[in-house]
Amino acid sequence: MSGIPVNIPLLNGNEKKYLNECIDTGWISSEGPFVKKFESEFSNYCNQDHGIAVTNGTTALDIAVKALGIGPEDEVIIPSFTIISCASSVIQAGAKPVVVDCLEDTWNMNTSLIEEKITPKTKAIMVVHIYGLTVDMDPILAIAKKHNLMIIEDSAQAHGQEYKGKKCGSFGVVSTFSFYPNKNITTGEGGMILTSDPEIAERCRSLRNLCFMADPRFVHYELGTNARMTNMQAALGCAQLEQIDEKLSLKRKMGKMYTEQLSVLKDKVILPLERTSYCENLYWVYGIVLPKDHPLDAMDIMKKLRDEKVGSRPFFFPIHKQPILNKLGLIDDTPLKNSEWLAKKGFYIPSGIGTTEKQIETVSKVLKRII
Ligand SMILES: *Cc1c(COP(=O)(O)O)cnc(C)c1O
Repeated sequence: MSGIPVNIPLLNGNEKKYLNECIDTGWISSEGPFVKKFESEFSNYCNQDHGIAVTNGTTALDIAVKALGIGPEDEVIIPSFTIISCASSVIQAGAKPVVVDCLEDTWNMNTSLIEEKITPKTKAIMVVHIYGLTVDMDPILAIAKKHNLMIIEDSAQAHGQEYKGKKCGSFGVVSTFSFYPNKNITTGEGGMILTSDPEIAERCRSLRNLCFMADPRFVHYELGTNARMTNMQAALGCAQLEQIDEKLSLKRKMGKMYTEQLSVLKDKVILPLERTSYCENLYWVYGIVLPKDHPLDAMDIMKKLRDEKVGSRPFFFPIHKQPILNKLGLIDDTPLKNSEWLAKKGFYIPSGIGTTEKQIETVSKVLKRII
């Protein structure tokens, strides 16, 4: 593609070597040795005991929610400003997602709105770290303890990110990741569930593998799915994990470059926070938000960027306004003003780990001209 795509992955380590190993040895299925290696190295990196590699981050959430025994009559509190996968995992389990709004400055779930949503049916809080900053975990840990709720942590955008020096992915009774090519490390498609509870880990492994029994193998007492990661995907994952520290510092450097180059726009648009009191921005993507009273919407700016061959993406569309969930009556559509504002006025610009400094300069120039 000519122009600057919104994401360019970086595959400059042992990816090719390990993939060749898969081909040379014939180990291409989920039975190959890279799968266990990737599971153990990544769970270790995130300070959890068990890793269960799966086909993608959405499936990781589906399996994680089911493994906790969440089902009909249960409720799970989720942010409205997130990807549909969070709501659909709860719904697929037969439970009801209950949404809360996000904060204006970090775009993460507003923890002060959680307690009023708790009912006797509430079983869990699903936290989602958004766009490079983390959820404020301390209030959530306190609420979860007080009301005896489980924490499901969606860390799909936060590999290696830390909350008060503790790794994201270490907070949930189950924590999930995606390794899609725009994530901090990638396996093409892929995901993982982390837990330190051996029984939950075993349930995840069973749900991932059609709930086969050891013996007799083809008799089933439960329904699972085939969500096994291949040895080829895990080979990429092992290579990517070797370089994760470089990748994270590169992302931070790119984010800071954008903020520096776009600093003249500070009074006109909202740029991402560099840090909060509990974390330093990792800039998973570099998001920009227009003020509420701005005459243009994100869509207008994105169209102008497209005319200049610069890729961009809109922010998430709020869960409580998703047409399918409204139509099925699965969600309370009471307005949530911050999520709705971000959806209308927010967009992100090229933020892939393979995006070059030169491209960042070009994007910044174009954006300054447009705004
Ligand atoms: C990417 C992402 C997912 C879904 O992962 P896939 O691998 O694309 O299915 C889930 N949650 C969040 C927060 C994400 O960013």
